[in-house]
Amino acid sequence: MAVMHTNHPQESSTESSTEAKAETLIRATGARLTQPRIRVLSFLLAQQRALTHHDVLAALPGDKLDAVTLYRVLEWLVEQGIAHRIEGADHVWRFSANPAEGAHGSHGHAHFHCTRCAAVTCMSGMPLPARMKLPEGFISEEVSLLIKGTCPQCADDGAPR
Ligand SMILES: [Zn+2]
Ligand SMILES: [Zn+2]
Repeated sequence: MAVMHTNHPQESSTESSTEAKAETLIRATGARLTQPRIRVLSFLLAQQRALTHHDVLAALPGDKLDAVTLYRVLEWLVEQGIAHRIEGADHVWRFSANPAEGAHGSHGHAHFHCTRCAAVTCMSGMPLPARMKLPEGFISEEVSLLIKGTCPQCADDGAPR
């Protein structure tokens, strides 16, 4: 696949629009715009569900990315608040691009783990309470909610396996 320079915006296919969005988000951090960062973020932005390191490595279009490079890019995206990670019920981390541009605390939504296909999906429409009253002496760092069940796709498959 040829490397496209987005100085000349292409016709708005999904791919070029997520790529443009990825560039904008990375540029906003003031950090260097590198091909691996753009490729990984643009790929994450196009996904309906959260992906593991392994998923991204296997499904990323174009040249295969080095596993360590991918790991660093994912960590960097999380540090920058552009993506967040979710620990599935199987204790494997999934990565997902944050739903709103520059939104702080976009980590603050529920996640759904399908126990049949292991897909983890952001429930962006289900925000978690920003503040929770805790007993004295308890200091909250992070709140997470993982819902386990069957995703619509697996429910459609009908009979249990
Ligand atoms: Zn499923
Ligand atoms: Zn999420």
